[in-house]
Amino acid sequence: MKATLESIIELNLAQVRRRIADAARRSGRDEASVTLVAVTKYTSLNAARALYDMGLRDFGESRPQAIVERAAQLPPDIRWHLIGHWQTNKVRRTLPVVRLLHSLDRIDLLEALEKELHRSQGMLEALIEVNLTGEAQKHGFSAEALRGHWSRIIAKDSPLSIRGLMAMGRFDASEDEWRATFSQARRLRDELAESATQAGHRFDHLSMGMSADLETAIAEGSTLVRVGSALFEGLDDAADS
Ligand SMILES: *Cc1c(COP(=O)(O)O)cnc(C)c1O
Repeated sequence: MKATLESIIELNLAQVRRRIADAARRSGRDEASVTLVAVTKYTSLNAARALYDMGLRDFGESRPQAIVERAAQLPPDIRWHLIGHWQTNKVRRTLPVVRLLHSLDRIDLLEALEKELHRSQGMLEALIEVNLTGEAQKHGFSAEALRGHWSRIIAKDSPLSIRGLMAMGRFDASEDEWRATFSQARRLRDELAESATQAGHRFDHLSMGMSADLETAIAEGSTLVRVGSALFEGLDDAADS
């Protein structure tokens, strides 16, 4: 059973890596400039461990509770990426395990994080989540809201290090629509980069691209792709036990 799980994941991983490498080459980029974040939210601990054994160290979870539980069960050298909504009442418990927050999506979260980081004398690297598709069910700042809050977000002497932006394409959109969304995220990043850098932030990341749209995201400059289902395709309950 275990061999089956591992061989399925190994094939999937090889395919995802090939897609990343091909997309990088097509846009004249170094494939090493794109980090694969394995999103393990759909899958078992065994499947996550198999990916670890294949050398992956960047893992993403969308729920704070899941990231705390998985971090306790998996090796300590994993870099955990929180990619989903973070309730302010879960900040204290989750903060110690988060290496990079992709989903800083509102000012009250920023304030709760600063407060907790001051208390614990820590720091946190974070990406600002932008909602460029206007979907009401999605979190994140609109471009306008982000410009409005920008000086607050990059305030000097904050324990938050703002590393870039995170954007999502609309589910089931066309490639052209994905491209428009990702290109808008890239231009927004470019627009904000100088002020961020002047305020002391290393503003160099664009987190965009998932299983369906990673090629388009890489063509538009993504540095972090968050891939879940493509890594675990073909794993049914029988194999994953
Ligand atoms: C689930 C999730 C992903 C992974 O999506 P797949 O389509 O399964 O690759 C990426 N980003 C976020 C924010 C997610 O919630």
